[in-house]
Amino acid sequence: MRREGFDGALTMVGEELRAPYDRPPLSKQVLAGDWEPHRSTLRQDTDLQRLRMNLRLGCRATGLDTAGRTVTLADGERLGYDGLIIATGLRPRRLPFGHDLAGVHVLRTLDETLTLRAQLTAGPRVVVIGAGFLGSEIAATTRGLGLDVALVDVEPTPLARQVGTWVGGLVGDMHRDRGVRLCMGRHVTGMTGEDGRVTAVVLDDGTRLPADVVVVAIGSVPATEWLADSGLPLADGVLCDATCRAAPRVYAAGDVANWPHPTAGRRVRLEQRTNATEQAIAAAKNLLSGPAEAVPYAPIPFGWTDQYDTKIQTWGWCPSDARVEIVDGDTHDGDPRAHKFVALYKTDGGRVVGALGWNSARALREYRGHVAQPAAA
Ligand SMILES: Cc1cc2nc3c(=O)[nH]c(=O)nc-3n(C[C@H](O)[C@H](O)[C@H](O)COP(=O)(O)OP(=O)(O)OC[C@H]3O[C@@H](n4cnc5c(N)ncnc54)[C@H](O)[C@@H]3O)c2cc1C
Repeated sequence: MRREGFDGALTMVGEELRAPYDRPPLSKQVLAGDWEPHRSTLRQDTDLQRLRMNLRLGCRATGLDTAGRTVTLADGERLGYDGLIIATGLRPRRLPFGHDLAGVHVLRTLDETLTLRAQLTAGPRVVVIGAGFLGSEIAATTRGLGLDVALVDVEPTPLARQVGTWVGGLVGDMHRDRGVRLCMGRHVTGMTGEDGRVTAVVLDDGTRLPADVVVVAIGSVPATEWLADSGLPLADGVLCDATCRAAPRVYAAGDVANWPHPTAGRRVRLEQRTNATEQAIAAAKNLLSGPAEAVPYAPIPFGWTDQYDTKIQTWGWCPSDARVEIVDGDTHDGDPRAHKFVALYKTDGGRVVGALGWNSARALREYRGHVAQPAAA
């Protein structure tokens, strides 16, 4: 807003007590203990001050009145607004059991990361439930600390929903090769505990995985509970139009925003760091310009994950029903750690919907343009 020349009063409300910080390092450098927590801070205090912002930390929004243009806070205070951007992100999904036991964690915030990190120093046996990006990274980081780690998922491979089963199979090989016990295609049916502390995770085939620490990483849900009575359209996030507008003078951005992506030809909600920045810029510009001048938000999504010494990056979408075609590099050396390739994801009609680089950041950049065509092309 300030970069675009907005000079009026700016208030940012956040329920965490910490100043804004970056989440990607949490499951990687911070959990590993390689970074001091403050390194994940997004802006120094002086930079925040330069924004001339009323920063309300430790402050939860509990309601929105779009007609009266007010946001209600947990202590009952009402904040009036001329323009509002909703960027409340996600909350971790939980299992219907186990979370009352000590040793069972979720990981979304820096404080949750530090609590988990503190428990890793005693050399626990770790079970990670959910092998999406977050669970796979936590498995890699904890295994990298030399811990005994099991990774469980209902899907046949790690990252099956994110990058399909072919690349997911390589990710599985990588974890197996590093000594992670993979339990794929398995449901967790329960946890056992002793004296209030978790002792094991039980799977649907009767397998009992001994555990001192369990991390539940089974996805997240948009943090929209505070908007339930607002009248805003909610369905897997805040439903916006193509310009990120949810209601007059109300926009949404980041993990919580669900909008019709012009070139994807469908509604999307992205849980990617790059999108959080780009969509925030788009929403801020569109709020300032007003609906008549607003521009549709049509990014080519970019995401990444770092596991062990492997960096996987994606442009666009990499669904499991797409055909995967290797266009650059080598995948036939028998050692998953040595892989270095770029894969294109194509629909039945041959349209490229995504590109993935495995340790191939530079080569991948050349394929970004391949995923830019509209859905109808
Ligand atoms: C551990 C971890 C690792 C990740 N790694 C990667 C990665 O490697 N690559 C990648 O592309 N992406 C990664 N991501 C995803 C990326 O961090 C998110 O896409 C990004 O943080 C989204 O930003 P956001 O501002 O939309 O939401 P968030 O970062 O979730 O911020 C939302 C904020 O709103 C606050 N809030 C929620 N409800 C309320 C309320 N009612 N009142 C006041 N405040 C509220 C929350 O406390 C939170 O601070 C990772 C995420 C996590 C958790």
